[in-house]
This record gives sequence, C-alpha cells and structure tokens, in this order.
Amino acid sequence: MNLKLKSHLPSEDKVLEKSPVPIEIEFCNVTKMYGAVAAVKDISLSVSRGEFLTILGPSGSGKTTALMLLAGFTAPSRGDILIAGKSVSDVPSYRRDQGIVFQSYALFPHLTVRRNLEFPLEMRGIKAAERAARVNRMLARVHLDEFGNRLPSQLSGGQQQRVALARALISDPPVLLLDEPLGALDRNLREQMQVEIKDLHKEFGKTTICVTHDQEEALTLSDRIVVMRAGQIDQIDTPEALYDRPKTRFIANFLGEANILENAAFKIESDVVPSSEMIAMLRPERISVNAHSAARREDADQRQSVSGTVEDMIYAGPLRKYRVRVGNAVLIAREHVASGQEVFRSGDEVRLDWLRSDIRFVAA
Ligand code: ADP
Ligand code: MG
Repeated sequence: MNLKLKSHLPSEDKVLEKSPVPIEIEFCNVTKMYGAVAAVKDISLSVSRGEFLTILGPSGSGKTTALMLLAGFTAPSRGDILIAGKSVSDVPSYRRDQGIVFQSYALFPHLTVRRNLEFPLEMRGIKAAERAARVNRMLARVHLDEFGNRLPSQLSGGQQQRVALARALISDPPVLLLDEPLGALDRNLREQMQVEIKDLHKEFGKTTICVTHDQEEALTLSDRIVVMRAGQIDQIDTPEALYDRPKTRFIANFLGEANILENAAFKIESDVVPSSEMIAMLRPERISVNAHSAARREDADQRQSVSGTVEDMIYAGPLRKYRVRVGNAVLIAREHVASGQEVFRSGDEVRLDWLRSDIRFVAA
C-alpha cells in the first residue's frame, strides 16, 4: 500500500517516509478448502492501520470465508494471517480483540440494549461504574440514549444495527469486521447508515474490513476495494481507480454499467495500443448523444463519433438512459437531464461521440 501510494503521489514521498502507516492485517497466500472446494484460493493482501477496506464480490465468491478466517472462526488450510505483525494461527477468536457486526445483527434477544453493550465490557473485566459511563457515552453517540432499556425486538432494523455497531466499538478494539452490515435494511435506511458508518470510521479510526455484494456501498464507504471472484482476488484498488480503470471485463460489468466493444461494427480509435487479449470498454456516461445534424464540437479532433438509431430511452429522474443501435452493436449512453437538452426517442437517428481517451482496455 505504501509503495503504491509513493509511486502515484511523488509529492507525498517525504511525509510517508517520516511516518509510514503501519500494516495492521496481512493475508499471506491464504487458502481455505471445504472438501475439494477452495472457498478462498491463495489470497494475499495487506491492510494499513485505520484503513477502510471492503471485500466486494458476488454471492459465493469467498467474502464471508475471508472474514471468518480473519475473525478466527475458521482456520486456513494453507497460508498465514498476521495481525499487527504477528501470526494469529494459534490465537482463538475471543482473544483477537476485534469488533464484529453481522448482517443479522446477532444481538442477544433477551438482553436490553444497555446490557447488550455492557456484555463485551464485562467480558474484559471492566468495573460496573466504568461500564455504565462507557455505555452512556456510546448510546449518546449512536443516538439511542432513550432506548437503553428496550429489548432488541422493540427496535427498528436500523436501530438494531446501530446497537450492533455500538457493541462492536465499545471495547475499543483496533479492528472492526463488518459482514454485509446493511444487507437487511431497505434502500433509504441503507444510505443513511452508510453515512453513519463513515462518520464512525472517521471518528474512531478503526481498521475496518467490510464485506458486501453491494457495489454502491463499496464505492461509498471504502478507502480501497478488493474484488473477489471464485475465491480469488481480481483487483485491489481505490474506488475511483476500480471504476475508472477496471482490469477485467468482470469488474467493468460488476461495478456499474459498461459497454464492452467486442466485435463492434466500427473500428475503435484509441491512442493506446492494446495487446490482442484486451477488449475495449466505454462507460455509458462518457458517451454523448447528439442530433445527427448537430454541429461538431470544439474538441472534435479528440473524439470518435458514430451514427446510430435510438432503440429506446428510459427516463430515470436525474438521468436519461439511451440504448442506441450502431451496426451489430447496441451501445448504452447515460446523460444527465439538463434544461435545454435535446431529447431523442425510439427510431431517431443520432450521432454518438466520446473522447478517445475515455476508451479503456480490459482483460477478456
Ligand atoms: P460469500 O460470502 O462471498 O457469498 P462464502 O465465503 O460464504 O461466499 O462461500 C464461498 C464458497 O465456499 C461457496 O461456494 C460456499 O458454498 C462455500 N462454503 C462456505 N462455507 C462453507 C462451509 N462451512 N462448508 C462448505 N462449504 C462452504
Ligand atoms: Mg457472505
């Protein structure tokens, strides 16, 4: 991570050399077999102290297994996991000092909110007066001061998840593990909780590993994202780099929408010469849709344009999504709705154009 930052941000070289961020967690060639199936296959990765790292991937790609290995609920078949530089292969889960939040909240149903929060403190032998003080502070922090005496079943889903987060943080562990933390919540609440999780991360600075299959959640929350596919790591990058420069077709399609320009009827113009196994990819929002007769743009010499026929237009509030037939291909273009902008309908002849520099090449 440090090496990578150095090569991208030369101006920060000095700062990083003076105070390198220590590595908190390392996976070293970790494999987990279930019978003949490798749930996790030879993964290596390091997480810096204080980093928010998200493991993103489709269902069954090995995300939860990776997290359970880190939590010590299951042991690697091969490889090693280091926390703060030390192998944890002989450290049982209850001694790993990690706060964990599950999708299902996993609160104690027969204990009040207050008792749920006290539990990890009791386990650590913290005295009653100190426990009460910490619980009060934490309840206030997650806006649940008035709910301390309720049972989990008397709370909404969002409130239960805030209790689960508070319980994970209250013993002040250096590492926080979140497994699909917002998976059980509806869309609006999920967005609200994303902001809360981000704020808590800013405030408490815990090294956080979050598992999700939700790309938007991963893009919103993370310093870096690890994309997993079939037990292996496809790419590790910042959200922006991953979206803008995906290395594989899988990631281009998994993270947002992509036009894969394979066997297109027109020749792709690009200043980059790709190797033969690479395919051109273009994000829908990079394509602009113009009337066929529209004047050429000022930067036309940097653009490629093609003619096509609108198949359909889908209006989605702030966006219009066009599907445009160009020869044997259908390209998707997404435009922000703006005043004075021309709107096209099914059957309209249009000219699509994009900057040649917006073409990306991904591995097939
Ligand atoms: P994800 O969290 O990405 O959905 P998991 O880590 O839960 O994926 O599972 C990865 C793969 O390992 C899947 O094929 C799953 O069926 C298998 N697997 C997970 N846990 C077990 C287990 N306890 N026993 C057998 N197979 C398992
Ligand atoms: Mg899972």
